[in-house]
This record gives sequence, C-alpha cells and structure tokens, in this order.
Amino acid sequence: MKSDNCIFCKIANGVIPSTTVYEDDDFRAILDLGPAAKGHTLILPKEHFDDVTELSEELARKVLPIAAKLGKAMKTGLGCAGFNLVQNNGAEAGQTVMHFHLHVIPRYEGGPEIASWIPGETTPEEMKETAEKIRAALK
Ligand code: 5GP
Ligand code: ZN
Repeated sequence: MKSDNCIFCKIANGVIPSTTVYEDDDFRAILDLGPAAKGHTLILPKEHFDDVTELSEELARKVLPIAAKLGKAMKTGLGCAGFNLVQNNGAEAGQTVMHFHLHVIPRYEGGPEIASWIPGETTPEEMKETAEKIRAALK
C-alpha cells in the first residue's frame, strides 16, 4: 500500500470495510457509494497507481477480463440489459479519487440517464492534423 492517505488503498487492502463483490490477489471490486445505477461497481488494484498511465502492464492485462466477468454477472444477477466500463484520468476528466479504478456500470431498460457526450463536428483536414499530433507524441 503506497499511500496512507489514499482511501482506495485502504479499501482495496481491507483496512476500511467495503461491500466487496469480487476479490483476488491483485484487485478488490466494491459497490460504489454513490451509484449511477444499481450495482455500480469499482475495480480497485490493491497496489497504488494514480491513473491508467501509471498502471503496470501486468495489472492492465488482468483488469479487463475481471470487468467482463462482473458485467456478465450483473446481467445474470441483476437483470441489467448492458453495462458501461468507465475510467477517468485526471481531475479535468472527472477523476475524483486519484487511485486507478475502473467503473462497471449496469444499464437497465428504462434506467437512469447517464451522461454521455454530444457528438461534435470535425473536418477531414482537422482529423488528419489531430491524428498526426497524436502519432508524433506516441514516438
Ligand atoms: P471517479 O470520479 O474518481 O472516477 O470515481 C470515484 C468514485 O468513487 C465515485 O463514483 C464515488 O461515488 C466513489 N467513491 C468515493 N469514495 C468512496 C468510498 O469511500 N467508498 C465507495 N464505495 N465509493 C466511493
Ligand atoms: Zn491508493
């Protein structure tokens, strides 16, 4: 546990109790205290990483299959019609707890509205220029 001040480190490692739906050596998945929909779950690594850019590749490989398993269990166990995987990085992107976590949010027919983006507009020229900037930064 890296940070004594990190609430998700404490929850993931069982120092603070939580409503746990899944646990293994690397992760604990808990119900969110402020659920966007019934069953909203957070997958927390037991080791501290600020966000996805810090997450080890080993754990990154492991987290998606857990999310898929949880989503499937939500469909069977809670009767949701689908689910969203949401993962925020940085305060501007809506991250409020600076310990990597992956949201698994069940979506029910006629269920609560959950914010999504309004499609914007672009041009082929702008797309080309934007893609070039990202590609250059990847090198
Ligand atoms: P973020 O906005 O950082 O992507 O998501 C943080 C999430 O953690 C929010 O959905 C919030 O409701 C949840 N949360 C914050 N503190 C606690 C806590 O102490 N326990 C649980 N179970 N969820 C928390
Ligand atoms: Zn932490």
